[in-house]
Amino acid sequence: MKFHVLTLFPEMITGGLNPGIIGRAVQKDIISLNVVNIRDYTLNKHGSVDDYPYGGGAGMLMQAQPVFDAWKAVAGDKIPELNTASEGGTQRDSPPEGGEPGGRSVRTVYLTPQGNPFSQSMAQELAGEKELVLLCGHYEGIDERVLEEIVTDYVSVGDYVLTGGELPAMVMIDAIARLIPGVLGNESSAQEESFFNDLLEYPQYTRPEIWHGKSVPEALLSGNHKRVSEWRLEEARRRTEQRRPDLYRRYMEKTELIKRLLRDKRNHIHMIESLSRGLGEILCFEGDNILIYDKKSKVSMVQAADEASAARIAAMVPEDTELVMSTQESLNRALEERGFRLDCATWQYLYTEKVPLSVRKCEASHVKGVLQPGEASRPGIPMSQTEIRRLGQEHLDYVSARQEHNDRRYVKICIELGNMYGAFAGDELVGFIGMHREGSIGLLFVEEAHRGEGIAEALEAFMVNRMLKRGWTPYGHVVCGNEASERLQEKLGFYKAGKIVWWLTGDGNRGSI
Ligand code: SAM
Repeated sequence: MKFHVLTLFPEMITGGLNPGIIGRAVQKDIISLNVVNIRDYTLNKHGSVDDYPYGGGAGMLMQAQPVFDAWKAVAGDKIPELNTASEGGTQRDSPPEGGEPGGRSVRTVYLTPQGNPFSQSMAQELAGEKELVLLCGHYEGIDERVLEEIVTDYVSVGDYVLTGGELPAMVMIDAIARLIPGVLGNESSAQEESFFNDLLEYPQYTRPEIWHGKSVPEALLSGNHKRVSEWRLEEARRRTEQRRPDLYRRYMEKTELIKRLLRDKRNHIHMIESLSRGLGEILCFEGDNILIYDKKSKVSMVQAADEASAARIAAMVPEDTELVMSTQESLNRALEERGFRLDCATWQYLYTEKVPLSVRKCEASHVKGVLQPGEASRPGIPMSQTEIRRLGQEHLDYVSARQEHNDRRYVKICIELGNMYGAFAGDELVGFIGMHREGSIGLLFVEEAHRGEGIAEALEAFMVNRMLKRGWTPYGHVVCGNEASERLQEKLGFYKAGKIVWWLTGDGNRGSI
């Protein structure tokens, strides 16, 4: 991910971020940090960038011209297609009429006390961007006219006023960067921390075992992983209830809903996984009236208690939803009335075993989380001499041309997120698979000439193993009538849920397994 910071004090940003974990991630090219001095772009011969506010009042204001030109230097030439952003509690205005060509093509955040409060979920959402411009104000702020032209999101780090946007920009970069795979070096650590799944982190201890007469809690010394996790969960709950009752209420609602959904796990696995992976937010939970919205993927998952409630639930589905997953025809009708289009009927499949599948020779040795040959715990899957590797943007044309819905923008996002994998026979790409943004396995394709070689099995087994490693339940949707895919799911040990899951599309579109 590329961060561009527009500032009058570049040394604050470089000095603040270069040491430590973020600096190391920059050195390793996992993220890049481009700090731009707004003053370098002023056309004023004395180098000034500020002036008095019209109408009088205290202090000075940053002028529009240098801010705009500095922004244009980093973002002005980007094609609008790059703008894959979603809402996530932030504000996005529509592009200005008659603005600069390519205006607002890159997500541009203005740090301001008047913005939406920065949060862990906003950090998560922004971590999905490829590039982000952070604009730091100073003095009394910035001329409104340039903000109107370039800013997509107004973000505040709290209800207090600072002298400049540099500290807030650093806070945002730090919080976002550590969610990018590879930055922390340990994918799971960001998942166990405060705010993940609405709980604060449990208390932590290190050596010595006794300090100032206080011992480390006995459960942590037991060496029993189950006891340790139970103790940690209990402490996290207790702490959240005491310190953040607002979060605790959310957590309890989610726990209660998951418990209810687990009564019919097969038909609700999409909702359960969305909630337990910390992706979906509960917009409605009143008995069997349920609406979960994943704002990152713009997927809504719905269920209505009865026909009478269908219209009400459909009316609550957020406007910018790209895909609705529904299990009731009455809901489909209500959603169609709202303008969603019925796209396809699918069978939901889930893999409930905890045992990884054998990928045989198809794994790349450098990709973590994959069984090595010989580690098979299931009957062998026939395999060719193929290797599975993560796909990059150089494979975008290949994948988009073959993906069922030919949705280039969507494929681009999946590749950017590191969720697309390909099977290579030597250097030749012969098939691929992906994880949809809301967490299901999908986008599976194998070249005609290579079908029947076990490549589809290997690709899906590979995705299953990656998910199992993260403690997730792998699941996916097969378009009704795709018998080959149904056979594949059954062969791999997936269970078929009883109810059909309908996909209804809003403005976006995409393919299933
Ligand atoms: N006059 C402005 C107002 O009342 O909204 C405050 C300007 S402040 C002194 C100068 C700059 O600091 C702002 O332009 C903004 O970039 C940054 N800033 C100050 N407080 C902030 C906060 N809580 N969150 C994000 N940025 C902040």
